[in-house]
Amino acid sequence: MNTIKRVVIVGGGTAGWLTAALLQKVIGPSIHIELVESEDIGTVGVGEATIPPIRLVNQVLGINEAEFIKETNATIKLAIRFENWRVNGEDYYHTFGAPGRSMAFCHFHHFWQRAKQECGEKHSLWDYDLNYLCCEAGKFAQINAKDPVLELPHAYHFDASAYARFLRKYAEKLNVVRTEGIVERVIEDPVNGDITGVMLKDGKQVKGDFFIDCSGFRGLLIQRHYNVGYEDWTHWLPCDRAVAMPSERHENTAPYTRAIAHEAGWQWRIPLQHRNGNGLVYSSQFYSQQEAEDLLLANLDTKALGDPLHIQFRTGRRRQQWHKNVVAIGLSSGFLEPLESTSIHLIQSAITRLIHLFPHNGMSEANTAEYNRQSQIEYEQIRDFIILHYYVNERDDSRFWKQMREMSVPESLLHKIKLFRDSGKLFREQNDLFLESSWLQVMLGQGIEPTDYHPIANAMSQAQLLNMMKQLRDIKQEPIAKLPTHDAFLANYTKA
Ligand code: FAD
Repeated sequence: MNTIKRVVIVGGGTAGWLTAALLQKVIGPSIHIELVESEDIGTVGVGEATIPPIRLVNQVLGINEAEFIKETNATIKLAIRFENWRVNGEDYYHTFGAPGRSMAFCHFHHFWQRAKQECGEKHSLWDYDLNYLCCEAGKFAQINAKDPVLELPHAYHFDASAYARFLRKYAEKLNVVRTEGIVERVIEDPVNGDITGVMLKDGKQVKGDFFIDCSGFRGLLIQRHYNVGYEDWTHWLPCDRAVAMPSERHENTAPYTRAIAHEAGWQWRIPLQHRNGNGLVYSSQFYSQQEAEDLLLANLDTKALGDPLHIQFRTGRRRQQWHKNVVAIGLSSGFLEPLESTSIHLIQSAITRLIHLFPHNGMSEANTAEYNRQSQIEYEQIRDFIILHYYVNERDDSRFWKQMREMSVPESLLHKIKLFRDSGKLFREQNDLFLESSWLQVMLGQGIEPTDYHPIANAMSQAQLLNMMKQLRDIKQEPIAKLPTHDAFLANYTKA
């Protein structure tokens, strides 16, 4: 019996420290965790927008939200605003909320669709979404509503380096041991091929029973050592570069991320308490590094701070994310571009999966296969959702957007689009991170108009339908006037 007691994490970015904190907290003292990282190598230095499940991490770790917001210079995120994605000059929101209210057997948007088709409904679907209304008004507070109609789901924007420091402090308090050094060589058991240790540049050996590769794009253990291979998705998601540049904060802090499409890529704008995070994600077939940098600088609306950071990547996933006694978590496991802020979530969900399938007495092939199966499904579901934003576009100003529109996309995505276009129906696949309301907002926002709606929406008269729609708009509008501005909320919440 080879009981797993010593866990070694290689890499101390968001992936490494989040893994250390959660594993140690949940599995407890039966494992000893040592994390090796190198200040000389550093971290990728981006990754500042999140999605609501991050709040579960804080709950599990027992982190106080106000303290977290203060220490990471965080702001509240209620949505992403997609600008110029369908056509230039138009925008829509993908909010964390849901329009209307939940209805039995079919979604609210079928009622809205009927009102539009038969009763001349002029209001957009987003007029029924509290997250959207708060974004437009620049307001936020934690609403303690008993009625789910008034839920206001949120996530955060935060400073990536401050977040890694915050997690490190937390993990070290739980007795995770940090070792500074550069991993130069991997030591492998000649009999079973498992990794038994890593050798550092200064000659020190770090031994373990189980290894977690959080070494970033390098994939030191999973790829450089084991060479498990990479499934390349560049033909669907051709952006392969980014340039990031912080800038001064705005006077009023928006409670949402902006994703602004350009001729061959898109720009993010992430508002933090002390600065804005900005970046351009682009395809190197269309822009040189200098052109990308110039484009980003020309599109900053506050003063640039610091030097530009250039990053290269390839969208796709490792063919195996768990191999022998190594699990890859974070950028070492694959990369989907940051359009829907899913990378930190993928880290969190990989750790959760690992905790469920954590080995006890040695490795089991079935256990490893199950981990890899679940990871693959998760990656593919998110991939399809991101492709949707590019594929369904009507931009006629560049070859890039034409290529995106004309590419052949996965069957799984084509089916979803056709189903929605024909009938307005949306089904959430098992465990899909994105709920129907997410697919709905992006499909509509990108210009897919359903030609039909569910017959349940005919169960009321037109007058009743219009009355229900008006009531819902009023219910959603009602709290807005009373809510503080996002800045007032942050100032008040973090002043203690
Ligand atoms: P890294 O941060 O690269 O950390 C790697 C670690 O490994 C470092 O500590 C390094 O020192 C260590 N290391 C490497 N080699 C060695 C060695 N030989 N010896 C010792 N140590 C070593 N995610 C989101 O959720 N939201 C976003 O908005 C978002 N935006 C992004 C924008 C861009 C352009 C990119 C590229 C990514 C973005 N991400 C985003 C992803 C996010 O940045 C990462 O998922 C997150 O930072 C985790 O990175 P990591 O810890 O895997 O890797």
